Amino acid sequence: MENFELLIKNIKKHSFSITIKRQYILKEIFFSLKPLNAKEIKKQIKEKYKLDISLPTLYKGLQFFEDLNIVGSIFISSKKTTYYYLKGIKSQNFLICLKCGTITIFNDIHMNNQIKEISLKNNFFLLSQRVMLYGICEECDK
Ligand SMILES: [Zn+2]
Repeated sequence: MENFELLIKNIKKHSFSITIKRQYILKEIFFSLKPLNAKEIKKQIKEKYKLDISLPTLYKGLQFFEDLNIVGSIFISSKKTTYYYLKGIKSQNFLICLKCGTITIFNDIHMNNQIKEISLKNNFFLLSQRVMLYGICEECDK
């Protein structure tokens, strides 16, 4: 389900109320090339739609999507911030620097194929995957 409108339609179909604010929140996460924290989402929505979403409303919205299993989150302790990403739909893998908290997305066709093979071997029906590698980035290693 790569299509954003389709995703919204699907949420509505399951009779969940989805306010315009929540749609904007999901849209930011959906089209982002990297995981975003709440402040970044708030800032982007304000810039794009001239709409101010309070942090409690934002967190409630994020929780809503997490409960629906659409959005996932990772807490980066070095930044003391939680980052939100789209679950399942795109297969993105993360390299997470434990020192500065930078998250780099990578995709590797060989690794993806191997994961598919592992799933098959275990009679496991794979829906999505996310590999998170923790370490120290090039900048921090200097
Ligand atoms: Zn780093």
